[in-house]
Amino acid sequence: MSNTDYPLELPEHDRPMVRFMNVSKSYGRLNVISHLDFDVAEGEMVTIIGPSGSGKTTVLRALMTLETINGGVIYVDGKPLTHMPRDGVLVPADERYQRKIRSSIGMCFQHFNLFPHMTAIQNCMEGPVQVLGLSRKEALERSEELLKMVGMIDKRDQHPSRLSGGQQQRVAIARALAMRPKVMLFDEVTSALDPEVIGEVTHVIRKLVAEHNLTMIMVTHQMGFARDISDRVCFFYGGSIEEQAPPQILFTSPQRDRTKQFLSAVK
Ligand code: ADP
Repeated sequence: MSNTDYPLELPEHDRPMVRFMNVSKSYGRLNVISHLDFDVAEGEMVTIIGPSGSGKTTVLRALMTLETINGGVIYVDGKPLTHMPRDGVLVPADERYQRKIRSSIGMCFQHFNLFPHMTAIQNCMEGPVQVLGLSRKEALERSEELLKMVGMIDKRDQHPSRLSGGQQQRVAIARALAMRPKVMLFDEVTSALDPEVIGEVTHVIRKLVAEHNLTMIMVTHQMGFARDISDRVCFFYGGSIEEQAPPQILFTSPQRDRTKQFLSAVK
């Protein structure tokens, strides 16, 4: 497909919140994602599972524009993210265009990456003030509400080093939400945590799923969690989707041998 084959914008009647259209990504000779077509509907919670090295994180990083793709186009809310329209065709997006579209995406990583010199509340306020141009008062109100939502309001004036891993991750979730993203990405948000604090982070994500109509894509190794909260589970293998289905179907009656092998190995 050449760039002229990709629409400048997705039509109203076929406009998922996220669309990977024929997306490929390689590092040198290593093809990590090959011709991937992947849609996520508005308000959908999609979990990506699969063996290590199958390209799960690359999918999220491509959506955050932390990786440049080698083929295809990614759309967010109908607009191209990796490309921009120019003279009636799509050309690779420049930094300024990409930053604008990307502002509708929030991400939480395995390592929380909070600003170490700022308190919990300052961490949440920074983006809304600096990037969105909110007044400090508006940003403060929004951040307090979110810290309440994640159960961290009583630690609002603590620096990250004084917080446990689970607490830091909850602040990181509040900080991402403070930007009012249309799409939230979670990459292994519990895998760096001690077992006893995993529950407090999964509780916050469950609450988000239950109470907010937010589009979410989550990479996880926790199959029980994926089963409980997803609308759809995608099993990645070798950089493409080997099988996808609602969790009650994928986990109980997987169709493909690779899915069966993976699920029996992780159980
Ligand atoms: P997963 O999240 O499923 O474990 P990743 O998306 O992290 O997989 O990685 C897919 C493949 O791409 C792996 O083989 C990994 O080693 C390789 N890879 C990831 N990032 C880089 C990079 N920056 N340079 C070279 N290879 C990379």
